[in-house]
Amino acid sequence: MELESARKNLVKISGHLYQQGLVPGKSGNISCKIGVENDFKVLITPSGVSLRDVDEKKVIIVDQEGKQLSGQGKPSSELKMHLNIYKKRDDVQGVVHTHSPYATGFSFSKENISRMEGFGPVESPQIHVVEYAAPGTDELAEIASRALENDDVLILKDHGVLVVGKNLDDAALLAEFTESTAKTEFVARIISREPIQVHLKRSR
Ligand code: 13P
Ligand code: ZN
Repeated sequence: MELESARKNLVKISGHLYQQGLVPGKSGNISCKIGVENDFKVLITPSGVSLRDVDEKKVIIVDQEGKQLSGQGKPSSELKMHLNIYKKRDDVQGVVHTHSPYATGFSFSKENISRMEGFGPVESPQIHVVEYAAPGTDELAEIASRALENDDVLILKDHGVLVVGKNLDDAALLAEFTESTAKTEFVARIISREPIQVHLKRSR
C-alpha cells in the first residue's frame, strides 16, 4: 500500500510542478524513497518524458543500487544523483530537480539568490551554487550530493535547482519557494535601480 500511494503521489506532484512552470518541456525529475535505511526502493520519473505526461505506468521503481524493478521506459538520467542523496541523508525521502526559469536564470549568471525569510536556519546568506558538471554524469551526482549533506537547497551552475525534503511534498514546496525567492530577488533588483527622471517642462 505504501508503494501504491507513493506512486500516485509522484504522478500528482509531477503534474503539479509542470503546471507551476517549474519543469518546462521535458526538464526536471523527481523521486521519493520508500522502505527503511538499508532496504529501500526509489520511485523516480522516467527519462525524456515531460513531467506533464507521467502516469502511474511510467513511474520507474529501482532498488538502492539503481536496478530497475518496474515501470515503462528508463529511469531519469539523474538517477545516480537522487540515489547518492538518499544514501547520504537518512532524513530525506523526497528529491526534486527543476529548471524553474528565474532560479535557473540566476544559475547562468554570476549573481546569487539570497536566502530570504522562510529557508529555515541560515548558515550562509545565499543559496549555495555548485560548480558546473554535465547533466546526468557521475561527477554531477557526486558534487551535488556532497553539497546537500548539510543543506536542503542547491543551485546547479548553468543548469537548475536541486532540493530535498523529509518527503516529496516538502521537497516540492521548497522547489516552489526557491523559484518564488529568485523571482522576488529579480524584481527587487530591477526596481531598486535609479528611478527614471521625469521632466516637467515640455515643449508644446
Ligand atoms: P531526464 O528526463 O533524464 O530526467 O533529464 C531531465 C533533466 O533535467 C536532466 O538534468
Ligand atoms: Zn536538469
